Amino acid sequence: MSDNSAFQEFYLREIGIQTPLASHEASEPVTERETHSPSIEKPVMANSEEALSVSSVHQVSPGNSALQDIALQASSCTACTLSEGRQTVVFGVGNPEADIVFIGEAPGHEEDLKGEPFVGRAGKLLDRMLAAQGMDRSQVYIMNTVKCRPPNNRDPKPEEVQACGKWFDAQLRALSPKLICLLGRVAAQTVLETDAPLSAMRGKWHEYRGIPLRVIYHPAYLLRSPQQKRYAWSDLCELQKRYHLLD
Ligand code: URA
Repeated sequence: MSDNSAFQEFYLREIGIQTPLASHEASEPVTERETHSPSIEKPVMANSEEALSVSSVHQVSPGNSALQDIALQASSCTACTLSEGRQTVVFGVGNPEADIVFIGEAPGHEEDLKGEPFVGRAGKLLDRMLAAQGMDRSQVYIMNTVKCRPPNNRDPKPEEVQACGKWFDAQLRALSPKLICLLGRVAAQTVLETDAPLSAMRGKWHEYRGIPLRVIYHPAYLLRSPQQKRYAWSDLCELQKRYHLLD
């Protein structure tokens, strides 16, 4: 396949026009936080010495020591009962100096095992969406509102969101992004403190503590509803436009 046709296929896929691969994705049900994949490596227990020194912290590249300190502290958090069932505290991944931060809801099974946000099928779609915008994980930062996996992929409870709030606030302060993109309804409702449906939140600019913010459909939702990809694509294009206007 030439570069040009590869790009065209990519583009069509991202705006929701079906290709054989996209139809394959749509035919398989997937929750926002996905279920078990047997290929994942052995988990690192969050309470072990190794987890303290490695599991969350290795995801943060050097150069932002405040962020590293917060990741280290969060890696032993027991502020809510999610700590009892987790394998790792999934802190965040990417460039700690990034201008754009993407925020999802909470880790799923694969993220919990690997200690990195968005590594399942939804994460792979997120990677492709970023790539279609000329970005990858090394240029942006990706995190969740809640750092430990809720059992059975349920939505985080208000008390869990509240318990994790101190890590979320400190992490965002240390990152100090210029733009935020919220992935999905749950993250958007949590951060924007609203119960509005996603369809009412997407398609426009919001602000969080003075930072311009965009809401897009969650990649896992897009796997189930590929016809909505065009809206996510258009929101990402708006994010890119604003990104290019940054000084
Ligand atoms: N969904 C999320 O919201 N976050 C992840 O890290 C993975 C799936």
